[in-house]
Amino acid sequence: MERLLRIWIDAGHGGKDPGAVANGLLEKVLVLLMQVYLIDYLKSSYKGFVVEATRTTDVFETLDKRADRANTWDADVFMSLHINAGGGTGYESFIYTKASSGSISLQQIVNEEALAVAKKYGLDAHGGTPAKRGNLAVIRETNMPAILMETAYIDSKDAALLKDDSFLRDMAEAYARGIAKFLGLQPKVIENPRQGVAGVSTYIDNQPPQKFRLETGNFKTEEEAEEALNKLKQKYLWIIRREGKKLVTGTWTDAAVVQKYKTEWKQTYKWWVYIKEA
Ligand SMILES: [Zn+2]
Repeated sequence: MERLLRIWIDAGHGGKDPGAVANGLLEKVLVLLMQVYLIDYLKSSYKGFVVEATRTTDVFETLDKRADRANTWDADVFMSLHINAGGGTGYESFIYTKASSGSISLQQIVNEEALAVAKKYGLDAHGGTPAKRGNLAVIRETNMPAILMETAYIDSKDAALLKDDSFLRDMAEAYARGIAKFLGLQPKVIENPRQGVAGVSTYIDNQPPQKFRLETGNFKTEEEAEEALNKLKQKYLWIIRREGKKLVTGTWTDAAVVQKYKTEWKQTYKWWVYIKEA
């Protein structure tokens, strides 16, 4: 059987290391959220790959171990997710100072996808060019094409974008498309029975994936809903907000994942929980 291509996603920081902190935002939380969106999009849009992550929860991992683990796993591509700080503005990505031709090409492809999306939100390349180089441990110590993303600045006007779930998702999906193009992944073929002729299947590539969100029933009071929200925020790192007396999550494209959380919430909290199309 053909070997599946291997993608390593490295959400920066975690645990005792929050990364950059400003405007009520934590870098370690934002990158984990983007990672969820990125992997979700990869899995719903492409085939022929497997994906592994440094962390999927709020835990600490050293820079050396991050690179070691990706090397041992024999990843074909490595992407580290970060949020910038230091009072600038804009999107940029880093490859190692003495980057391989693979990393150079990866950066070109990813930047093209990411910058197009960033510009839709009024965000440009930091300092006029998105393609930066740096002597950073995870992109230096990894053996495969490797890139480190700095999505926007947590401590400038960019923070408004980082609070916008659509921005985080759209950027993460652009990163996913960049990785997919770099690796030459095949799009998932989705059967569309609505357009099928009897006995003949019609297949459509790149049909936009369906999105789902979770919604609770109404709590008795807004205060009760707020209390529930705070409880959830300690456990889940994805976006959850209160709308009046109910709670609403960000969206997923994987119906099985939504179902899993719905069951988890019902069992843990005994609330009414609904799956809604987004
Ligand atoms: Zn960082």
